[in-house]
Amino acid sequence: MTPTAILRRAALAALCLAGVACGTSTRPDDASEYELELIWLGTPPSEQVRSSFDVAGNTIRATIVGPLSTVALPTSFTNLSQCGLPGHPDVSREPIRGLRIYAIVESIDGNGGTLGSAGPCLIRNDDTPALGVMRFDDADVQNLLSSGRLARVVLHEMLHVVGFGTVWYDQAVIDTTTPTDARFLGLLARQACRDFNGGASICASTVPVHSADGDGSRFSHWRESVFANELMTPFLGSGATPLSATTIGSLEDLGYEVSYETANPFTLPGAAALRADEPATGLMLGEPMQPRWKLDGAGRLTPYRPRR
Ligand SMILES: [Zn+2]
Repeated sequence: MTPTAILRRAALAALCLAGVACGTSTRPDDASEYELELIWLGTPPSEQVRSSFDVAGNTIRATIVGPLSTVALPTSFTNLSQCGLPGHPDVSREPIRGLRIYAIVESIDGNGGTLGSAGPCLIRNDDTPALGVMRFDDADVQNLLSSGRLARVVLHEMLHVVGFGTVWYDQAVIDTTTPTDARFLGLLARQACRDFNGGASICASTVPVHSADGDGSRFSHWRESVFANELMTPFLGSGATPLSATTIGSLEDLGYEVSYETANPFTLPGAAALRADEPATGLMLGEPMQPRWKLDGAGRLTPYRPRR
């Protein structure tokens, strides 16, 4: 990192610590130049819940370290119902320097069933998400908090908002030509998988993407039967859920400037330990939300056209 970059990071951290432009949102104070702004809607959840979101947000800001282009919210974007969250008409008009996430924890369907939904809503012209939403069921959130898994579930969902599995088609990093054997094409994820996660043969040319049909999680996660307990598989086990270098590599493939220092140790299980590619035990996290809007080259709001 150049001295200039270090200074810029220090300046950004100071800006937020001083409360300037931070408003009521929560922004971690580390030195990342990736701005992640979390705005709570409705009745703010307990401090413990909010702290789990902060832990997840801090991990993302320690992983994505480079700045993104600042975007102004187009005037035709007026209400969060445009992101599937009706009843929340107040939208911040402040320019978005990185990613703004509107989060709400509310009653959906009680224990079990739907945990909620999360994903990007508005993406830049270069396909990086600028505005996203996270909506979780209060009952499930309390359960996850009690079992100590909330921060990891939030991190999984926040990575979808950042773009994991949600802008893969736009960035042309997924190949679903053979739907039963979808593949992630990004070179940096493949390299990380081979160099750091024991994937010399499994990731020899591409990274296996979850392809089992039926639960909505296919084409947006690593393959459960190959990546097992890794954070970005569709099912979250009760044990450790490492954030692998492969996942961080996939973010770099999306155009983010990343640091691999946040990667947890992770080795792909040997062939003997691989599970069948079918619903495994563990918490099913469901299908991430796809973007709804995209900024065109002139910064105008245009309906998102899925490329899958
Ligand atoms: Zn997911």
